[in-house]
Amino acid sequence: QSREMEQLLQAHEWTSKLYHFLLKNTEHGKPAMDYLKSRGFSDKAIDTFQIGYAPARWDTLVQFLDKRSFDLAAMEKGGLLSSKQDGSGFVDRFRDRVIFPLHNRSGKVIAFAGRTLGEGGPKYLNSPESRLFSKSRTLYNLHQAKTEIRKSRQIVLFEGYGDVISAWESGVHNGVATMGTALTEGHASMMRGLADEIIVCYDGDSAGQAAALKSIPILEAVGFVIKIALLSEGMDPDEFIQKHGGERFKHQILDGAVSSVKFRLIYLKKNHILLEEDGKVAYIRDALGVIAPLPSPTEREIYLKELSTDLQVSFESLKQECNQFRIAMQKKAPLGDNNDKRWNNGRHKK
Ligand code: ATP
Ligand code: MN
Ligand code: MN
Ligand code: MN
Repeated sequence: QSREMEQLLQAHEWTSKLYHFLLKNTEHGKPAMDYLKSRGFSDKAIDTFQIGYAPARWDTLVQFLDKRSFDLAAMEKGGLLSSKQDGSGFVDRFRDRVIFPLHNRSGKVIAFAGRTLGEGGPKYLNSPESRLFSKSRTLYNLHQAKTEIRKSRQIVLFEGYGDVISAWESGVHNGVATMGTALTEGHASMMRGLADEIIVCYDGDSAGQAAALKSIPILEAVGFVIKIALLSEGMDPDEFIQKHGGERFKHQILDGAVSSVKFRLIYLKKNHILLEEDGKVAYIRDALGVIAPLPSPTEREIYLKELSTDLQVSFESLKQECNQFRIAMQKKAPLGDNNDKRWNNGRHKK
């Protein structure tokens, strides 16, 4: 059993070396190299992240592994190859794709993500879940970022591989990403073991912002101090860095990341037309739904003051309404118990 795992790890290691070599040193790899260069990835980044290229042929990897006497059926089970439709043998799983190796925490290659060079087709193809690879337990780049994460006690969480790589090139070495899947409790506690603060830096489109919102309770549950980066509409961190540079990314986007309360307020605000009285009233109601449950009176005051300035409504009336909100909540479920997870939010307990 462990010999089979050993073989599979060995095969992943060889495969990653093969794809990296083909990208860098062959004619076949040239279009992929041009593509990566056009995206702004440097040679250093291509080496650091061991980026590669899987050629268009059906049997590059089959031949390679066969020549090295790997058991092809085991390689298929481990996600490196696919079975032919008629069951008569195996073909390469990744063809004509840029390859991003995925590593486990100790830096062993356990899976691959392959991206199409252009548009069309599923943009990314991942290795299937296997004995080596579980998406819900893997974070891209954790093996390289963990040193900086431990040192700074801070982690930056991205959505995509390109975001991690561009941030790395800008000197942000504590970045990791999930693999297109939702953030899990497993991811959260894994990260919390290394850091106290997390900056969620998801895409600026509505999917990314919705995912950021969903991540808040998961990250609060493990006691993270949470910051959320705000990206302008439709841009992801990689695109921001390519367009505006790494310095601006660090100073404007990362340093400008807001608290989870602030983020939820900004998020809710988008649903309302504040030029209309109805819209203002509805937004205030939503906002109090976020502010009223906060256990700290000073924290409530800070956000109520901001809301007051923002909407041109007196602080006194907002405070009054907030208190009514709390009384109503208390009737439904008693407040004031700091051990109650709903209101404590797991913060302030480093
Ligand atoms: P790129 O910059 O290469 O276009 P991206 O990382 O910006 O890609 P998004 O569309 O923002 O891609 O998606 C975020 C992440 O979701 C990707 O990095 C990838 O892990 C995952 N993902 C996206 N599309 C797919 C897909 N079709 N199949 C599987 N995973 C996907
Ligand atoms: Mn996206
Ligand atoms: Mn993206
Ligand atoms: Mn992108």
